[in-house]
Amino acid sequence: MPETTTDAQTQAFMRLALDQAQNAWVLGEVPVGAVVVYQGVVIATGFNHPIGSLDPTAHAEIRAMRAAAEVLGNYRLIDCALYVTLEPCAMCAGAIQHARIGQLVYGAADPKTGACGSVVDLFAEKRLNHHAQVRGGVMAEECARVLAEFFAERRQRRKNEEDPGTVEEIILG
Ligand code: ZN
Repeated sequence: MPETTTDAQTQAFMRLALDQAQNAWVLGEVPVGAVVVYQGVVIATGFNHPIGSLDPTAHAEIRAMRAAAEVLGNYRLIDCALYVTLEPCAMCAGAIQHARIGQLVYGAADPKTGACGSVVDLFAEKRLNHHAQVRGGVMAEECARVLAEFFAERRQRRKNEEDPGTVEEIILG
């Protein structure tokens, strides 16, 4: 059975996902964060880290699900809920379905790569075998603001510097 949470609990879990997004920002990565909840407890966290990990699959959702699977000792996360600050992409939506995540809760919509309705809706595709309940728009403003501020800061820094800086400066800010 999927987790059943009150709105206060839902917001508390999303706040923890937002904390994870800050970890990504500190490392110069696009700030997206995720947590996996099992029986009302956060068992795993993840933040977006493809640049530093040299791993194109190192999205917040994937990292959180990998950690959760290790904690539970099971590659299937049937009774788990995944909270993520940004609408999952197609890769993550696929992984969420393979993991049999019971409930997906996301914050901001992603008009560029969102696979939960913004660009495509892989959870509405009846031919795919999946069971996740999906809820979007939770604390959407806060989740979107972190991303907007990150990109604004990055644009500003580039404008201020004729020299683009060393690779370390670009990645680590
Ligand atoms: Zn993704």
